[in-house]
Amino acid sequence: MAGFPPIPAGGTILLHRASVPAALLEGDHGPADADGLALMEIGIAGGRIAHLRPAAAMPPDGAVDLDGGQVWPLPVEPHAHLDKGHILPRAPNPDGSFGSAIAAVAEDRRANWTAEDIRRRFSFALRCAEAYGTAGIRTHLDSDGAQAAVTWPVFAELREAWRGRVALQGVALISIDGYATPEGEALAARVAEAGGLLGGISNFPGATPEALEAALDALFRLADRHGLDIDLHVDESVDPSAATLGPVARAAIRHRFHGRVTCGHCCSLSVQEPGTVDRVMDLVAEAGITVVSLPVVNGYLQDRAPGRTPRLRGVTPLHELRARGIPVLLGGDNCRDPFHAYGDHDMIEVFTDAVRIGHLDKPFGDWPAAVTAGPAALLGMADHGRIRPGAPADLLLFRARRMDELLARRRGERIVLRGGEPAPTELPDHRELDDLFPRGG
Ligand SMILES: [Zn+2]
Repeated sequence: MAGFPPIPAGGTILLHRASVPAALLEGDHGPADADGLALMEIGIAGGRIAHLRPAAAMPPDGAVDLDGGQVWPLPVEPHAHLDKGHILPRAPNPDGSFGSAIAAVAEDRRANWTAEDIRRRFSFALRCAEAYGTAGIRTHLDSDGAQAAVTWPVFAELREAWRGRVALQGVALISIDGYATPEGEALAARVAEAGGLLGGISNFPGATPEALEAALDALFRLADRHGLDIDLHVDESVDPSAATLGPVARAAIRHRFHGRVTCGHCCSLSVQEPGTVDRVMDLVAEAGITVVSLPVVNGYLQDRAPGRTPRLRGVTPLHELRARGIPVLLGGDNCRDPFHAYGDHDMIEVFTDAVRIGHLDKPFGDWPAAVTAGPAALLGMADHGRIRPGAPADLLLFRARRMDELLARRRGERIVLRGGEPAPTELPDHRELDDLFPRGG
C-alpha cells in the first residue's frame, strides 16, 4: 500500500504538491479549490519555512511529492482541562449530566488531587496532544480554596518542562463570585505571579443581576490591577434563562478593559429569542470578545436525561457570531472525565466533529483557522497557526487530499514536523495510569 514518501531528516525538505487551506497561507497562493485548498510548494530549511509558492507542474529535483496530501500548521487548543483529564475510571458520571459531572469532579478533587496525581494525568494528556501534533494548549485549572496552591506549581513546572514542545497557558477556574473575596484577591495575585489568566464560571448559584454585576466588577478590577486577560465559562446550559454573556460583555465595556476577554461555551445563546440573541451578539462584538465553542462536550452534556433522546445540542450560533465579525474558535474541552467520557486531545478530531455538528463545510472557508491561526493568536503564539515564509516548519502532513478524505477517516495517516524534523507520533497507553485507579477502577 502506498503511504507517505520518505521525509528526509536534517531539516531541509522541499514539499511538492501540498494542499494547504488557503485561509492559513500568507502570500501568493494561486486559486483555491472548492474545499478552500491551494496546491503549494513548501521549501523548508534550517527548521523554518524558507519559501512558499504555487506548486509547479513538475516536481523540482529532490522534492518530496505529497501528491495533493494536505499540509496544515500545527493546531492549537484554546480550551482544555488538563488537570481533571483521565480521572474517569475512578470518578464515573452516573447519569452523564452536567450536575453529576460537577459533583463527581468535586469529590475526586477532594480525595485524590495531589501534585503527583495531577502531574501524572496532565503529562499523559500532553503526550497525547504532542503525538497528534498540537503546538499549544490553554488549560483551565480548578483553583478553589487550597487546590490552587497544589495545582498552580505543578502547572508552572510542566509548562517549563514542555517549553518548545507544547506551549501552555493556565486559567484560574472558580465560581466568579469568589473574586469579591480576600481568597479571590490572593488567587489573582498567585495567577499573576504564574503568568496565567483569570477565569471562572459566570453562572453562580443564587446570582441576582446585582450580584452578577458585583462579581464581574471584582473580576475585571483584579484583571486590570494585575494586567491579566480573562477567559470565562459562560452559560453552559440550554436553559434560556442562563443569560450572563450580555452582562460579561457590558462589564468589559463598562471597565474599558484593555486585556482580552474570551467566553467559552455560550450554549444558551442557541435557545434564546432571536431578538435577544441579536442584542447579545452586538454587545459581544462591541466588547471585542472571542467566543470558544466546545461542540463535542456540549453534545455530550446538554439536554441529557435518562431514556430520552436529546433535542437541544447547545452549540452556540457559530455562523451568526462569525458573521458579526466575532472571532469564533473551536476547542476540545474535557477528555476522559465526568464532563466528557471520551476524547484524546486531538484537535483534528475536534475540527472533524465540529464540521459535522455545526455544518462548517459549505464552504469550509476559513474554519480551519478556528483550530490553528485563531487559537495561536489568542495564546500569543505569533509564529504559529499559519504557513508563511520565516515561520517555524511546525507542520501536520496528511495523506488525505480533499476535505472529504480528511474528515472521513478518523485519525488517518499523518506526519508531524516540528522545526522541520519528523516528530514521534506514538500515543501513550491508557494502562500507564492504571495505578491511579484502585482495584483497576
Ligand atoms: Zn471548559
